[in-house]
Amino acid sequence: MPLNIPGILAPFQLLWNPRIILPHVIITDIRQLDFLALRKAGYRGAVFDKDNCLTIPYKDTLVPELKDAWRECREVFGERNVLIVSNSAGTGDDPGGIQAESVSHHLSVPVLHHGSPKPAYRCISAIRTYFSSLPNPIQDHELVVVGDRVFTDVVMANRMKRRVARATGEPDKAASTYDRRNGPLAVWTNGVWQKESMVMRWIERCLVDVVGRRMDGKSGLSDSLELFTKLSPHPTVPQGRIALIRSLLHRK
Ligand SMILES: [Mg+2]
Repeated sequence: MPLNIPGILAPFQLLWNPRIILPHVIITDIRQLDFLALRKAGYRGAVFDKDNCLTIPYKDTLVPELKDAWRECREVFGERNVLIVSNSAGTGDDPGGIQAESVSHHLSVPVLHHGSPKPAYRCISAIRTYFSSLPNPIQDHELVVVGDRVFTDVVMANRMKRRVARATGEPDKAASTYDRRNGPLAVWTNGVWQKESMVMRWIERCLVDVVGRRMDGKSGLSDSLELFTKLSPHPTVPQGRIALIRSLLHRK
């Protein structure tokens, strides 16, 4: 697998904007997402990572345990409004887009063809082009971005947020970064279907933990956690750790 330069550089953005790695919602897997609640809240489309989020890495078929949740997701949003954005299928590592075609067939939704890996701004641009080309175009703030990696999926979702100006005309950095009206909802699935990059995942968890403590409840995550999640029948990772992170992000 070639180097993901945008992903490698993403941690440096932490130096001036540590909130870039904070998701709005932390779940084990997509069975915990309440898609109907998301739709009722105004979210009309979704971007999903593939490897270790929907499929075993480098496989083209859905993890069987996710069958019902995936069907619900497609029914709620509509299949054209759900887009898979992978750093394997649909990229330059997928000659002729053969894997993208296969994944699209098995998962019944489109797979984005893109030349720059997540979280590159050019990848974001390709996502926007897709959703703006729909018969009923979908804007960034109407999207849910779901993925299992902080420095690719979560950072990309947060990079899609736009700053807002207060009445004074001055950009309000604190308000804009996590105001979900200005960008997608970032959902981090931290369950792992097949072990992969475990050291990096541990580092990502620790960083989310530390930054969550540092924000000390200023990140505006609590509403999203309560509104858009439900209990998973068969959690794949220990809930204690998730509960700890949730409580850190939840504090006021
Ligand atoms: Mg992944």
